[in-house]
Amino acid sequence: MNGHESALGVAAAVRRGDRSAAEVLEEHLARIGEAEGEIHAFNTLTEDAARAAAAAVDATVAEGRDPGPLAGVPVAVKDNLCTRGIRTTASSRILEGWVPPYDATVVSRLAAAGAVMVGKTNLDEFAMGSSTENSAFGPTRNPVDVTRVPGGSSGGSAAAVAAGFAPLALGSDTGGSIRQPAAFCGVVGVKPTYGAVSRYGLIAFASSLDQIGPFAHTVADAAALYDVIAGHDALDSTSLSEAPPEASARLEAGVDGLRVGVVSELVSADGMAPEIAERARRAADALSAAGAKVDEVSVPAATYGLSAYYLIAPAEASSNLARYDGVRYGLRVPGEDVTEMYVRTRTEGFGAEVKRRIMLGTYALSAGYYDAYYGKAQQVRTLIIRDFERAYESFDVLIAPTTPGTAFKIGDIVDPLTMYLNDVCTIPSNLAGHPAMSVPYGTASDGLPIGVQVLAPALGESVMFQVAAALESTAGSL
Ligand code: GLN
Repeated sequence: MNGHESALGVAAAVRRGDRSAAEVLEEHLARIGEAEGEIHAFNTLTEDAARAAAAAVDATVAEGRDPGPLAGVPVAVKDNLCTRGIRTTASSRILEGWVPPYDATVVSRLAAAGAVMVGKTNLDEFAMGSSTENSAFGPTRNPVDVTRVPGGSSGGSAAAVAAGFAPLALGSDTGGSIRQPAAFCGVVGVKPTYGAVSRYGLIAFASSLDQIGPFAHTVADAAALYDVIAGHDALDSTSLSEAPPEASARLEAGVDGLRVGVVSELVSADGMAPEIAERARRAADALSAAGAKVDEVSVPAATYGLSAYYLIAPAEASSNLARYDGVRYGLRVPGEDVTEMYVRTRTEGFGAEVKRRIMLGTYALSAGYYDAYYGKAQQVRTLIIRDFERAYESFDVLIAPTTPGTAFKIGDIVDPLTMYLNDVCTIPSNLAGHPAMSVPYGTASDGLPIGVQVLAPALGESVMFQVAAALESTAGSL
């Protein structure tokens, strides 16, 4: 908990009338006032709207009506989630001046649950990156050590929770963008099953991989947030029609008799720091001591996840980002004719990493290369799904490190390929569409947080959270 309040504790107190949502909000705004200048977790603070929302929660409590499961809990929202009447930037210049006319479904569900949005958090432009340094608004700093990155792309959301600006935050995870920053900042981060949480109102990066998910200090808080945002939404055609698994269902059930596999290819992934691999193994040992049956398991195709991802994700991005043409959204840089306006707008509006991805993706999809690159990557994706399915015939959940290293210094990684290696352990779950979450598991010899990942089969959130909760309870004795 890092000495911070739990979301469930806040909600319980507000629901009982022991504390007002207004007073909870002012405490968090005061913390933001003290430290945000240094951390830069937010692109936009929404204090006025937050005060109005908190007052509405307090009025509901006063009238004796149900204020919702997250009553009065401050929440920070990644700035690629649309918010009606509040600018939404994706940390890109190209959306300059754009104000969405609607709320993302997750934003509406938060409000309906009584949560109070305090602001929109910084990210790598269009969620492309692993450090939040690719933001048009400058980097976010890691609250654990402000010389270091918070990870990315949801770095602002992870930092907001770690700094105590809000007990809960939402991020998006296309290749690791919730789990990697969660690991770097010492908080819990969850990527749900593809289709479990509506993507309506999420600014698209790679639509077949993107999922929205929670950040929190505790597994129970993350589960409560998951249970609020998950569920069918007619506005997202990829939203699953069945009822979502209940994340909070078995948090206290322990792991006795559960089968837990340690993924060999991920503990020995490219560039893996030995002490992080060792920590994942210790996590498995702790689960074994708690009654789980633990073994190593091979998911051979996981090794190719990174290569497949860096074809599929840019290919989808090149298509998704074609809509920023100087006509429909945000920035327009005038030119002699439409083509020149289009070129100038995109040249000035997009940052270097976004342009790199658009070029990579356009290349991968072009005639003559499609089969060799994009087609091949899709075949690898199928193999990854098959290998995971095979592993889940013998195991209930899998364990892996979240990241190969701990939070690096701001400015230290300039080579894109080195940056991409951060996602080697997180990407396979996105390609498979499976849920996975990062749980803080002590610190490394450099004093920085280490995250351990719990992976589960599609719609396996109940058992995933169950194991994560058991793991969390052993982290104190590290
Ligand atoms: N770091 C990965 C990338 O740059 C993943 C980003 C994400 O999950 N949004 O694409």
